[in-house]
This record gives sequence, C-alpha cells and structure tokens, in this order.
Amino acid sequence: MMKRELVMATNNAHKLEEVRQILGEAFCVRGLSDIGCTEDIPETADTLEGNALQKARYVHEHYGVDCFADDTGLEVDALGGAPGVFTARFGAMNGYGESHDADANIRCLLDKLENADSRTARFRTVIALIKGQEENLFEGIVEGKILPRRAGEGGFGYDPVFAPAEADGLAFAQMTAEAKNAISHRGRATQKLAEYLMRD
Ligand code: IMP
Repeated sequence: MMKRELVMATNNAHKLEEVRQILGEAFCVRGLSDIGCTEDIPETADTLEGNALQKARYVHEHYGVDCFADDTGLEVDALGGAPGVFTARFGAMNGYGESHDADANIRCLLDKLENADSRTARFRTVIALIKGQEENLFEGIVEGKILPRRAGEGGFGYDPVFAPAEADGLAFAQMTAEAKNAISHRGRATQKLAEYLMRD
C-alpha cells in the first residue's frame, strides 16, 4: 500500500511521534526539518485558530505540500480565559523569566491564582489542515483544574499543575504518556484529524 505523505509544521519530535502513533501505518508524517524548512514560521495571530492556519498556510505556500499545524492554549476561568493564545509567553509577559520557560510560566500562574475562588481551566488545541485547496480545522479540549502546587515528574510545560477532570486529581505529569494522550487536548484534536483523513 502507498503511504500518504503529509507534513506537520513542527520540529518538536515529541509531537511528531504522538501524531505518527495516532495516524498509523497508512501515513508518512514528515516534520519541518525533513522538508528543509529551517526558518521561523510567523505565529502572530490573536487566536489559536489564526496561528494554526498561519503556520499551515506558510508551509503550503512555500513548500507546495499538504500539511497541518497545531496551536495550544491554556484557558483559566478565573483569569477570563487567559493565558490562551499567550500560554507559551505567559511568564515572560508578566516579568517571570523568558518566553517558553515552563518553570516561569507555572510560577506566574500559581501566583495569579493564589486567592482565586475557582481553579477550573482547560487545554484547547486547534489543528489546521491544508490538503489540496481545502482548509479544515479540528479542535480538542480537556477540562480540568489548576493544582495549588506542582505534582509529578513526567510530561512538559504546565503538566505538573494541570489535573484533568477524568483523572481523579492526578496531574498530567503523574500519568503515563499513553494515559495522557488518550484524553489530552492534542490527542483529541489529532484523533479528529485522523478520522477525517481516513475517510478517503
Ligand atoms: P504549543 O502551541 O504546543 O507550542 O503550546 C503552547 C504552550 O502550551 C506552551 O507553553 C506549552 O508548554 C503549553 N502546552 C501545550 N501542550 C501542553 C501539554 O500537553 N501539557 C502542558 N503544557 C502544554
């Protein structure tokens, strides 16, 4: 059987592996380095949908390949849905270290929620797919809450302080990768992408 080729607009090996597992044998998923794309792709929209589309369109236009891109945000109810599209830069925007510094992001979040009445939050991922002339969006959400302190050693980013509602108070960082992927925002969005791609 001919494998169908698709590019994911990322250089993150962990994301590529996760997506390859979900899409399975029928697809050959390549990353940006596999197509010689080394430039920084602009990500300047003010929504997750906008950023995912911006990245996918860039790769489609410059490299002429079918591709998809994802963008993820953490939406905290007590913060009016912030940090949302600014999740990676949350600490840096508030004077807590560099952009993409997970420890600074978590310190900032815990400080902001110190006296909050509610700690409910969700992770939301949007995947934008461009196949031929068609654009499609797929969304994955996991509801949960922000723990008052870090727990667990696994995962990355905000995993030590995010407890999904389905996991009895465990943080993502306390779960195996398989257990996390089965209920995670990105896992769910990728599952929808897989169902769509497998229709034809
Ligand atoms: P990105 O869109 O995947 O680059 O993620 C944006 C921000 O959300 C980064 O700060 C990530 O660390 C964080 N993030 C994305 N997915 C997860 C996750 O599964 N667990 C914890 N943090 C995440």
